Amino acid sequence: MLRPPFTEEQEMFRDAYRKFLEAELIPHRDEWWGTGVIPKEIFKKAGEQGFLAVWVDEIYGGLGLKDFRFEQIMIEEIARSQETGFMSPLHSRLIAPYIADFGSLEQKQRFLPGVVSGDILLMIAMSEPNAGSDLASMKTRALERGDHWLLNGSKTWISNGINGNLAIVAAKTDPQNQRAIGLFLVEEGMQGFSRGKPLKKMGLMSQDTVELFFSDVKVPKENVLGNPARGFHYMMKNLAEERLICACQCIAACQTAFDLTVEYVKQRKMFGGVLSDMQNTRFSMAGLRAKIDSAQCFVDRCVEVHNAGGLTSAKAAGAKLVCSELQAEVVDTCLQFFGGTGYMDEYPISRMYRDARVTRIYAGASEIMKELISREIFPRQR
Ligand SMILES: Cc1cc2nc3c(=O)[nH]c(=O)nc-3n(C[C@H](O)[C@H](O)[C@H](O)COP(=O)(O)OP(=O)(O)OC[C@H]3O[C@@H](n4cnc5c(N)ncnc54)[C@H](O)[C@@H]3O)c2cc1C
Repeated sequence: MLRPPFTEEQEMFRDAYRKFLEAELIPHRDEWWGTGVIPKEIFKKAGEQGFLAVWVDEIYGGLGLKDFRFEQIMIEEIARSQETGFMSPLHSRLIAPYIADFGSLEQKQRFLPGVVSGDILLMIAMSEPNAGSDLASMKTRALERGDHWLLNGSKTWISNGINGNLAIVAAKTDPQNQRAIGLFLVEEGMQGFSRGKPLKKMGLMSQDTVELFFSDVKVPKENVLGNPARGFHYMMKNLAEERLICACQCIAACQTAFDLTVEYVKQRKMFGGVLSDMQNTRFSMAGLRAKIDSAQCFVDRCVEVHNAGGLTSAKAAGAKLVCSELQAEVVDTCLQFFGGTGYMDEYPISRMYRDARVTRIYAGASEIMKELISREIFPRQR
């Protein structure tokens, strides 16, 4: 086996998480694909069993498990469960660190226990219809008004948008300085904060993605994360981890599609034999095996480097780029082996094909990943 071994504790954690998904998610997959949202109670159950934000310090109710491999295990098990709409890593490892890294002691005490228990579900609201890759052109604004900030604008494609009850919202804070962006903790129930209906998407059908609206929302000063002019810097700092999470998701999806396909081609009868007898099948699958193993090695190495505190933005971008592009190749090649069956909505490979399209777009498009990698290669051109 090429992968660095997980510890015994981590293997036990994997078993427990797999059982949780088998009991709480897998039986409901079809229903949630129809409703477009996973019930909030599932996050609460995950919290009760210690599966949310496991890295949070024990004083805030967490388990203090800082090793990224615990999150990697959960990401792999979610892919295996084929319920990829369960955006628990987004809540736990992508958004929650903003509060721990940049929040005040009072903010950590107020929010982190709820993040761990699942009483608080997080959203991150950066993107706007005209500001996705180009975040600096966002229009949402916050103006300082005595003891609060007045927030106006809107955000789109926000994940966990129906279930979420605490949003970290990025907004421009200084009309004289376009790069001054603040991060605001906007809570459910604040006057002027509203959300749209779940957006209809081509994949991730059970994941609640919505628009958020802010109309003269009075955000108290104690709900500003860190320095209100440094939000851009905070986002850039945490985006490397976001890309590593995405790379883990993509390579886990590759492995799941691969496993499903191996099982299918071994039993699909044709021309007096089975599909796996064909040289085309064997060679195609062999090629995918080699590519998945290579990409997995890269991801595992990035995880090790990240655990040691050294993962650069360019390397995380490289992992996301390679794994998301490979995911597209894997699901397409695999679906072909399923023939017409693979085109039917009820078959997992069909859903995996649709889910895969977004990973080359969100958490930064492939072209942005190339831009980040090229900056490391050609530093003086910037
Ligand atoms: C399902 C889903 C969930 C999401 N969840 C969230 C969320 O929770 N929070 C949030 O804030 N956002 C979220 N997003 C938004 C996501 O991060 C953006 O879609 C993404 O950053 C791309 O921005 P955009 O869609 O505006 O595309 P654009 O910025 O318009 O880019 C379109 C295309 O232009 C090309 N391009 C862009 N920049 C360059 C460049 N520098 N060089 C060359 N070509 C380039 C690329 O091909 C790119 O795909 C989500 C999106 C989806 C689809």
